[in-house]
Amino acid sequence: MARGTYATINLDALVYNFLQVKHLSPRSKHVAVIKADAYGNGAIPVAKALTPYTNMFAVAFLEEAIALREAGITLPILVLQGPYAYQELENTKTLNLHWVLHTETQLAWFSEYLSHSDIQGHQWVKVDSGMHRLGLPMNEFDDLMRRYPTVMSNKCVIMTHLAAADEDDQTQTNIQINSFLSKVSASDFALSIANSAGAIALPKARQNFNRIGISTYGSTPFCSDRQITLRPVMTLSAPIIAVREIPKGDTVGYGMTWQATKPTTIATVAIGYADGYPRHAQNGTPAVLHNRRISLVGRVSMDMITYDISNVENVKIGDMVELWGNQLPINEIASYVGTIGYELMTRVSKRVPRKYI
Ligand code: PLP
Repeated sequence: MARGTYATINLDALVYNFLQVKHLSPRSKHVAVIKADAYGNGAIPVAKALTPYTNMFAVAFLEEAIALREAGITLPILVLQGPYAYQELENTKTLNLHWVLHTETQLAWFSEYLSHSDIQGHQWVKVDSGMHRLGLPMNEFDDLMRRYPTVMSNKCVIMTHLAAADEDDQTQTNIQINSFLSKVSASDFALSIANSAGAIALPKARQNFNRIGISTYGSTPFCSDRQITLRPVMTLSAPIIAVREIPKGDTVGYGMTWQATKPTTIATVAIGYADGYPRHAQNGTPAVLHNRRISLVGRVSMDMITYDISNVENVKIGDMVELWGNQLPINEIASYVGTIGYELMTRVSKRVPRKYI
């Protein structure tokens, strides 16, 4: 019999979320970002569910694209980190790949590739408008256009990535968008700026292509609420495998980091840091049992977590605890453990089966 620990992925909610964001930009095309195994939700089922609604997919590197093609996904795939070597470009036509080119070396490779290929419009040129992570320096753009005319043809998409679109203060984001647009919008290029936060909150960021990731998976990119309702996609749940009563003064778990201040009922739940639940989650981090909030007590172990369930009645071995999802927003757990929904989702490990509903 299976352990009973699952990440349940709600594909209806996934499609609903994607469409919510897509409908904000009726004139844009959309790229569903499904890198890192669709942020932990499973790239192949997610790609199949989104195929009728998106124009293309995006992954981080070639191997992620190959896995999608092997699974029969046929929409164009954008490779966000571009080619790592010239030879990777040989897959452009056979695998219908589009490449982000963010270094001059990649521009030179693509120029060489175009000299013996009849392919058109498979290149996205990335400009650094202030994130300073990837992209060609904005002040070299005109010069690069002159030196790589076949790459920088009007068939290419010019893109940039926003550093702080999810912040309440949009000063930096506006500087990025304005400097990008002032450089490229006079030309005939198709443009791409928006990630989820940009597509939801920044009309100026909605250009020819929006690149949508986290919002599809039901996690808001914002620190504060925005006027968009997203449905949870991943619900992480695990069964109770032991229940015990402990007296006041006893401790729970490794390092004896939690001590009972009164007689307490402790449930041990079959999930731990090897499943991707953060080990540094502190006493008091919530979970849900029988529709009631319960509190983590003691250290998260490799395969188990302990909770104070004194406030819940009629608990039996096998009852399910929700770690996050339908009844407990992933972003709430993220703020308890000092991270973001993106990291929690992508870290759910392979030993947690994904169940699609
Ligand atoms: N575009 C690029 C270049 C990215 O790296 C990412 C994700 O990291 C996205 C778009 C999607 O961003 P988000 O998940 O915030 O929507």
